Amino acid sequence: MSENTTPMPDFTRWPSFPFEGDMRVKKLAPPVEVEPPRSGEDGSDCVACGTPDEGYIWVSERWRVRAMDRPTGLPMVLILECRSHLDLGDLPNLLAAELGVMTVRLERAIRSLDGVARVHVNRWGDGSAHLHMWFLARPYGRLQLRGTFLSLWDDILPVVPESQWRESLALVAAWLADFGGKANAEPAHIEWESPGTFAVPDSVDPEPDGRRPTTLGDVEAAES
Ligand SMILES: [Zn+2]
Repeated sequence: MSENTTPMPDFTRWPSFPFEGDMRVKKLAPPVEVEPPRSGEDGSDCVACGTPDEGYIWVSERWRVRAMDRPTGLPMVLILECRSHLDLGDLPNLLAAELGVMTVRLERAIRSLDGVARVHVNRWGDGSAHLHMWFLARPYGRLQLRGTFLSLWDDILPVVPESQWRESLALVAAWLADFGGKANAEPAHIEWESPGTFAVPDSVDPEPDGRRPTTLGDVEAAES
C-alpha cells in the first residue's frame, strides 16, 4: 500500500498547462509483451483507405487533406494523408519528398487564415497505421496556448462557429487547389441563405448531446 509520491513535473506550472488544482501522477501500467495492432494495421480495416474523396476537403493524385467532422476549439485542425496505405517510415523517396512540399504548403495555407498565429505540425501514429500528419492552428494573441498543450486546448476552448469554420476550410482547400488537385470544401454562403436548415448556436459548448467530434485525443486514445 504505497502512496504515489511521484512529484508533479515542472510543466504543470507552465502558464500553458491547461489544468490547476490538486493532481497526482498516474500509476504507470506495466509494459505489455506484445502490442496490439493499430487501426488499419493489415490494410483491410483502414479508415483512411475506406473513405472516398468526398470525405476530404482537398484531394490530389497522391495526397488528401481532411478536416474533423465538426468544428472544434482551435480555428483549424487538419490532417494530411498520403493515398497509399503507408506509414511515415515506409514512404518511397517520391512521397517522402512530396510530404515535405505538402507540409510547407498546408502550413502556409492554414497560417494565411485570419486570426491564426502559428501552425503546429505533429505526427504521432499510435492510433492508426496509415500515415496522418496533424496540423493545429493556434489562435493569434492566445499566448497561453503556445507549445505542446495545444492539442489539449482544442478540446477545452469553446467550439468555433460552424460558418466560420466552413469558410476557413474552403479557403485552405482553394489555396491548395491553386497548386493542383481538387478542392471539395465549399464556402458556407449558400447555407447561410436558408435559415432554419443551418443553426449556428451562440454558445456551442457543451454541445446538446454532450459529444464533440472525433479529435486528436479520441483518435490517439482509441487504442489505449
Ligand atoms: Zn490505409
